[in-house]
Amino acid sequence: MEPASAWRRICVFCGSSPGRRPEYRAAAGQLGRLLAERRLELVYGGGNIGLMGVVADACLAAGGSVIGVIPEALVGREVAGRAVEHSGLTRLEVVDSMHTRKARMAELADGFIALPGGFGTFEELFEILTWAQLGFHRKPIGLLDAADYFAPLLALCDSALTEGFLNAQSRALLLAHTGPAALLEAMAAYRPPRVTPWIREEKEL
Ligand code: AMP
Repeated sequence: MEPASAWRRICVFCGSSPGRRPEYRAAAGQLGRLLAERRLELVYGGGNIGLMGVVADACLAAGGSVIGVIPEALVGREVAGRAVEHSGLTRLEVVDSMHTRKARMAELADGFIALPGGFGTFEELFEILTWAQLGFHRKPIGLLDAADYFAPLLALCDSALTEGFLNAQSRALLLAHTGPAALLEAMAAYRPPRVTPWIREEKEL
């Protein structure tokens, strides 16, 4: 297990839309509540919409602490008459850009979880995986695979392995579970592999 002092905050990447299936909202709610129960602070993009709002509300309602990090360009924007940013967080940090936001979330968190989402979620997940692959951090990264949403993404990662674009250590950087408790356990037990992102050409092997 990680020492308790090093395992305090989890960053969640997730959809700014709720998705079509109720299972996605349910998973976001379960994760938010579980983080509160485990006394793990939630770090996320600061939104009040979609699964972002669900995970933050569930964590707050269960007595948890939530830090939002939002770029100033999104503050004050509205979606369907609702402000994009969450007004009831423990702390909302307003930063100058999307890049600063990701760097700040990565700095604050001791681990990362992706819930179902779209391009924004994919981009955040793959950037944090890329940073792990390059050895810039050694924090655990997991998918909460509600209703098998991530099956095509996991299949793509497996294909990248068999096709020689990922090595086994890099592929192992991405943990995945269907339930939040099992995922948090796998993340707490995670031992970062020694990764080298480069795969030598056939003739060199
Ligand atoms: P997407 O999966 O495309 O809906 O994008 C969600 C991810 O991008 C979240 O984890 C956020 O960090 C970021 N994001 C996208 N839209 C917003 C928004 N309206 N407010 C705050 N963050 C957002």
